[in-house]
Amino acid sequence: MSRVYNFSAGPAVLPEEVLREVAEEMLDYNGTGMSVMEMSHRSKAYQEIIDTAEADLRDLMNIPDNYKVLFLQGGASLQFSMIPMNLMKNGEADYIVTGQWAKKAYQEAQKYGKANKIATSEDKTFSYIPDCSDLPISENADYVYICENNTIYGTKYKELPNTKGKILVADVSSCFLSEPVDVEKYGVIYGGVQKNIGPAGVVIVIIREDLIRDDLPENVPTMLKYKTHADAGSLYNTPPAYGIYVCGKVFQWLKKQGGLEAMKEHNEKKAKILYDFLDESKLFKGTVEKKDRSLMNVPFVTGDPELDAKFVKESKEAGFENLKGHRTVGGMRASIYNAMPIEGVEALVAFMRKFEEENA
Ligand SMILES: *Cc1c(COP(=O)(O)O)cnc(C)c1O
Repeated sequence: MSRVYNFSAGPAVLPEEVLREVAEEMLDYNGTGMSVMEMSHRSKAYQEIIDTAEADLRDLMNIPDNYKVLFLQGGASLQFSMIPMNLMKNGEADYIVTGQWAKKAYQEAQKYGKANKIATSEDKTFSYIPDCSDLPISENADYVYICENNTIYGTKYKELPNTKGKILVADVSSCFLSEPVDVEKYGVIYGGVQKNIGPAGVVIVIIREDLIRDDLPENVPTMLKYKTHADAGSLYNTPPAYGIYVCGKVFQWLKKQGGLEAMKEHNEKKAKILYDFLDESKLFKGTVEKKDRSLMNVPFVTGDPELDAKFVKESKEAGFENLKGHRTVGGMRASIYNAMPIEGVEALVAFMRKFEEENA
């Protein structure tokens, strides 16, 4: 068996320790004589798995008691609809469009009410985060929406927008658990887990209790109401049971690493290795404004599409997978999530140095 360095944006690298542990438990979970995959979601053993996962997540993120944690399906993309369906009371919301995912959320919200694009960085191919200190927040806005880390473009909010008292809703899919967060600053934090936490199929929604409404229009599907899932402890119907179990293992792994403060330190150190190289390189350069650089997704280019293609091909041959940039932006992108070891980034930089010398 040999493992590659996997720089995929998602589904993405998971901690090897966790993969080994779940492999070990595959045929017989904790003396039950069955795999978690085969287990009733109404069993005592499974209840313990989901309860422990939630407790560990609460612990890691310091989630206050007045927030619910929901384990849902439909990916981050279904939240683009569920958020306006559940939160638009006045029928209006403000969106800050900093990339493709925020744009999709903004477009989807228009189906349910008035969605206002109050700021965007589209003028420079989403290579920066706009100044959000004094935006024209709409008086009637039920919430202000952001995508906190832009997976495709490699930008991250270093400071949350001034929402002028409105509720903040954030898609954190690609920065989930990469650093400490102050949950109380948000009304809703959500993300698909396949970027930084676990296998595809689970989306985690952390929502302030008073935002879970009982008075939604009759035609809102039962499965798309937060209340349905909040009242049933995420077990209204069969949840993505195995995925939640793997997420739980990753939460425990994160606690063992020292929690989110330690992850932040680790991620900063790791990203710095790559960014420092990009800043000194004569061939490669980062595509994002320095102050807005993501710790998780690092896009870069040589400036020559043919050379980019050559780099992607040769890096793959050398054991570095998925470095090709998103189809909409080209170039390269290294996603260096929590589970990417520092050695992976060091090896990548060594390879880039060599490529630069050979192609000078
Ligand atoms: C990947 C991604 C999505 C889409 O996730 P799906 O689970 O495929 O729907 C949404 N937002 C962000 C920030 C992402 O990185």
